[in-house]
Amino acid sequence: MYGLSDEDLAIQTRARGFADELIPFEEQAEAAGGELPADLTAGHAKRARELGLHSTNMPAELGGGGCTTLQQVLVQEQMGRVTNALGWVAATPPSWLPGVATADQIDRYVRPAIASEREECYAITEEGAGSDVDAIEATARRDGEEYVLNGVKWHVTSYNTADFAFFQAKLDGGAHHGEHAMFLVDLPSPGVRVVRTPAYSHTISHHHPIVAFEEVRVPVANLVGAEGDGMTFAYEWFRFERLMVAARCLGAAERLTAEMTAFAATRRAGGGVIADHGLVAGMLADSLTELFAARAMTYETARAIDRDPADTRTAHAQCSMIKLYCSEMAGRVADRAVQVFGGRGYMRENVAERFYRELRVERIWEGTSEVQRAIIAGQMVKRGPLSLA
Ligand SMILES: Cc1cc2nc3c(=O)[nH]c(=O)nc-3n(C[C@H](O)[C@H](O)[C@H](O)COP(=O)(O)OP(=O)(O)OC[C@H]3O[C@@H](n4cnc5c(N)ncnc54)[C@H](O)[C@@H]3O)c2cc1C
Repeated sequence: MYGLSDEDLAIQTRARGFADELIPFEEQAEAAGGELPADLTAGHAKRARELGLHSTNMPAELGGGGCTTLQQVLVQEQMGRVTNALGWVAATPPSWLPGVATADQIDRYVRPAIASEREECYAITEEGAGSDVDAIEATARRDGEEYVLNGVKWHVTSYNTADFAFFQAKLDGGAHHGEHAMFLVDLPSPGVRVVRTPAYSHTISHHHPIVAFEEVRVPVANLVGAEGDGMTFAYEWFRFERLMVAARCLGAAERLTAEMTAFAATRRAGGGVIADHGLVAGMLADSLTELFAARAMTYETARAIDRDPADTRTAHAQCSMIKLYCSEMAGRVADRAVQVFGGRGYMRENVAERFYRELRVERIWEGTSEVQRAIIAGQMVKRGPLSLA
């Protein structure tokens, strides 16, 4: 199905097998606030590397998988079948970085990230600047051979496991005053502190704290690209992440559809199995139908990027469309799955309950559904709908 090549099928099969290895640990993680024993997590990370599922998006010449975009989607789709973020061990370091990094940054950050010796986090969002990234108030001031960084960042995912951060700020002074710039900040660094670590809906080991950067000094060598480039990187990364959000939502919807179908085919109520009741059957049918549509559009978007990587404008609109559709589709499927499981679907030991909470954020991070709709509509008006779909 879907015209996958032998190589595509091989990596998909490896990823599927790995997801099946992780699934039995979900309930243990859920019961322990998302944490598994460190040796277990280290073993999972090692296994992801051995199977070629880590850094699939990074260039082969730097030690990455050098996979096609479609293959990256196939891997993340399988990781999406697993709850509690246990699939995050198949990490995708920032693939936009090698193209703009200096040789020194490649050695200090890119190669170690690919080797899973280092891990990044993103400090972009602020209390007053989420969807509107341009509203950030964080500043970067040049002082001799250093920049001095100040700002308070929200929702810094994986800060507790990362050992460097991408910090986005507006330049204070100089030729590019007021423009965006991105910096690499080693963690821990003097002046970086956690303000607080709020609890979120999902139960995962990666935290999203509010982090203050106060008079943090980084060498000029830690500026990514040039002054004024900050937003360019954000857009490139958004395209990639939106595609991967879509892929993981496919996996989640597939798992939920399979699990609710198996339950509905055996659960007896009202004189037969519940799948025989039209109202339940309709929930099953709608879920698979929407998954089919979502998968077809996601694979086609990935293939289009592989065919013509230079056409970033079409990719930008299509990545928004699949992120919007797949995240909303998966949310609907999770809602139906809870309903099909009945009271069991409301128990944390049930996959439907966990996905019901976990999938909600897919409509918020990497650009909310409203922001995706605004991007799509904007492109339709500018370029005409027929060029985009
Ligand atoms: C669990 C989690 C992890 C995250 N991880 C990170 C991270 O690692 N690094 C990071 O930098 N950020 C991270 N974020 C932040 C995330 O990207 C933002 O929450 C998201 O972009 C929305 O911004 P906001 O929360 O400020 O909402 P707001 O921008 O305040 O939006 C509130 C509401 O207004 C709507 N809205 C806003 N603008 C428009 C518009 N122009 N048109 C129509 N509607 C609009 C939104 O769609 C939403 O419904 C994370 C968030 C969460 C929840």
